[in-house]
Amino acid sequence: MMMQIGEKQAGNGSLVGKNQPPVGEKHQANDKPEANGKAEVSPKQEADGKGDTPRKSLNLYSWQEIQRHNQEADQWLVINRKVYDVTSWADRHPGGHRVLHHYAGEDATAQLVEDFRELRRTLEAMNMFSASLGFFSLHLIQILILEVLAWLMLWHFGNGWPITICISFLLTISQAQSSFLQHDTGHLSIFKKSKWNHLMHRFVMCHLKGLSVKWWNHRHFQHHIKPNIYPKDPDIDVGPLFLVGDLQPLKYGKKKIKYIDYEKQHLYFYMVALPLLMPVYFNLQSMQVMYLRRYWKDIVWVSSFYIRYFIAFGPFYGIFGTILLIYLVKFLESPWIACVTQMSHIPMKMSREENRDWLSTQVLATCNVEQSFFNDWFTGHLNFQIEHHLFPTMPRHNYQKVAPLVRSLCAKHGLQYVNKPILKAFGDIVRSLKKSAALWMDAYYET
Ligand SMILES: [Zn+2]
Repeated sequence: MMMQIGEKQAGNGSLVGKNQPPVGEKHQANDKPEANGKAEVSPKQEADGKGDTPRKSLNLYSWQEIQRHNQEADQWLVINRKVYDVTSWADRHPGGHRVLHHYAGEDATAQLVEDFRELRRTLEAMNMFSASLGFFSLHLIQILILEVLAWLMLWHFGNGWPITICISFLLTISQAQSSFLQHDTGHLSIFKKSKWNHLMHRFVMCHLKGLSVKWWNHRHFQHHIKPNIYPKDPDIDVGPLFLVGDLQPLKYGKKKIKYIDYEKQHLYFYMVALPLLMPVYFNLQSMQVMYLRRYWKDIVWVSSFYIRYFIAFGPFYGIFGTILLIYLVKFLESPWIACVTQMSHIPMKMSREENRDWLSTQVLATCNVEQSFFNDWFTGHLNFQIEHHLFPTMPRHNYQKVAPLVRSLCAKHGLQYVNKPILKAFGDIVRSLKKSAALWMDAYYET
């Protein structure tokens, strides 16, 4: 049993908002945890909330006690061996209320490998976390050129079939590249002022793609903090349509559940999941969340996406034709985005919560795809998924530079750093679906 030594401190503004009532932030007093199971009170010092000796009293917390505070209405978090009560702050976390809850009652950093911290410090010193405005501007220019080119072609050549097919492809490329750019702006600050960054993120996600920023943030950041961990990662919560990993197939098989013939899931992955992920699943989920949670800003911005399409394409295709064009483009973009995002996680380890450190949590659940100019462009640098997951706020133009350091750190700690060709990565999605299907079949047909 591990013990936590802490002290109560009032109104620390770094974790808890100014207007919050004093919150029990319980500091550790020395490095060696005591192990006698009893709380301990230290010599008291007065707290002024901003002085250098804000100590009041020292308390010991047992892991059992900390773990009891893992409910949404009462959550404690351990960071650097200090205990924080984050209950009232959790709702206001920019990543959504679930982000902190997934860590409640556990030690978020104590097991972090010191080497990993060292690596991070090194990369910070190497300036690897500052974004190049030029790089991301070029990406935005690429998107705008594709959009304008599509419209100019239509205006010049008319709305015949060959031109319609042509502009659909141009718009598809623009949409996929917008997905990658919104991912960048969602993760990091490209501009010095975060205000401009939020605006840019809204512009790309809502206006260029017609999807809700807040919906995506809340969904994606849960995936980042607990990749492939069931049921915390929304990206692998795909049942009952699909069964992934080995826990879900066994559970369904043993309970004799067969909503769909899972034996053929790798086949309907092509027919259902690939083309319908973006136009149906993501689009509906985004609209539902925006509406139910009353994200007015997002709703207004997303409306501007549809208004722009109707103004630009309405005169050529009419209202119904423009709606068809919007969905045709989403339909074409879908397999692209689905493959790129799934290839890095579906074939990797999936498990329930094992309370591992950050480095192993991320590396076990993530794989890379080989670097090349085309692969980098085609995947929006998500081929460096391991680096992206270890350092989510690092701009993607730096992944290639830091990859060798990450690779050697993994080697040192016996973590497998998986890096494969892009076609093998696409094939592995299907192979892992087949494998899960076989596990389900064994359990289902077992008498
Ligand atoms: Zn991400």
